[in-house]
Amino acid sequence: MRAALLTAPGQDLTVGNVDTPSTLRGDEVRVRTSAVGLCHSDLHVVDGLVQRPMPIVLGHEAAGVVTEIGVDVTGIRPGDHVVACFVVSCGACRMCVSGRPAMCQDREATMRGESEEPRLSIDGAEVHQWTSIAGYAEEMVLHHSAVTVIDDRMPLDLAALLGCAVATGVGSATTVAGIGPGDHIAVIGCGGVGLNVCQGAALAGATSIIAIDRSDARLELARTRFGATHTVNSDREPDVAALVSSWTGGGVDHAFEAVGIPALVGTALDLTVRGGTVWAVGVFGDTAEITVPAGHLHAGKGVHGVRAGSIVPSRDIPLLVDAYLEGRLELEALVGRRIPLDRINDGIADLRAGTGARTLVVF
Ligand SMILES: [Zn+2]
Ligand SMILES: [Zn+2]
Repeated sequence: MRAALLTAPGQDLTVGNVDTPSTLRGDEVRVRTSAVGLCHSDLHVVDGLVQRPMPIVLGHEAAGVVTEIGVDVTGIRPGDHVVACFVVSCGACRMCVSGRPAMCQDREATMRGESEEPRLSIDGAEVHQWTSIAGYAEEMVLHHSAVTVIDDRMPLDLAALLGCAVATGVGSATTVAGIGPGDHIAVIGCGGVGLNVCQGAALAGATSIIAIDRSDARLELARTRFGATHTVNSDREPDVAALVSSWTGGGVDHAFEAVGIPALVGTALDLTVRGGTVWAVGVFGDTAEITVPAGHLHAGKGVHGVRAGSIVPSRDIPLLVDAYLEGRLELEALVGRRIPLDRINDGIADLRAGTGARTLVVF
């Protein structure tokens, strides 16, 4: 099958043939990819900010159709439409047993071992599988926990977005931060994840949703399609914190850093009311460090990490599909353009340019 391969950081991706095993392990499924979204954490690997063994196939928000299942797989059948999500879980560790698959402590149990044929290879040499998904490819071989069966009526291209941007953003607002009516929130960065934090906060009934970005186009999108009640262009506004304080009676209860720039965690703390929380949703580089002025701690504020929006794919992805089919979830406005796999480097360029809208590779 054809896949887009990264052979070294800083290089273009190259599209070529990659082999998948002819025999599945008992706990695996084979999926024909329908669409995959391009996400900033893929770009982090291309740019070397996040280091992974090479060569590697990137892509971690995908959807497709199951073509084959391993002998031990139950509840998934060939022909099922599925979302592939990077929250892969062993099902047996303490975190999995307590209902928190995003915190799984034994992802190795879901992967093939050293002595097994790799899921991806070229001439017998292993090709690495980013986040256990590797969606920039015509076919994916996945642990069954990576796959959630969805309603056939859901368009498969938009379904791909549920695997990362939407699940992470909505999950961060609802499951992680527990936003409810009366809450004031701010979101720094209105890319795919940030827009979905706004959307999740709106679904949860937040009183004010303040979107902050450097792009007027993204702010317009946040306000008109994703539930933001206020917008701020941080390039033009000299004192964002004072403005936010004036709108909210002293600051927001929850501020989300959805860019992945360490200094913006400090900015988020400045926007937060006494006792409020900063949620670090963005993906920071491997070596990034975050410095917090201690005065914020004395004000009862905290900074909290977020992992994959704490989503439970089997529970949350079907709910998101229902919300879309009932007209309550915006997805189409997230999509900038749809491109074939051969033009994937154009999509990588889109990510680097920070146009905000999601590029989808469709097969
Ligand atoms: Zn992502
Ligand atoms: Zn586990």
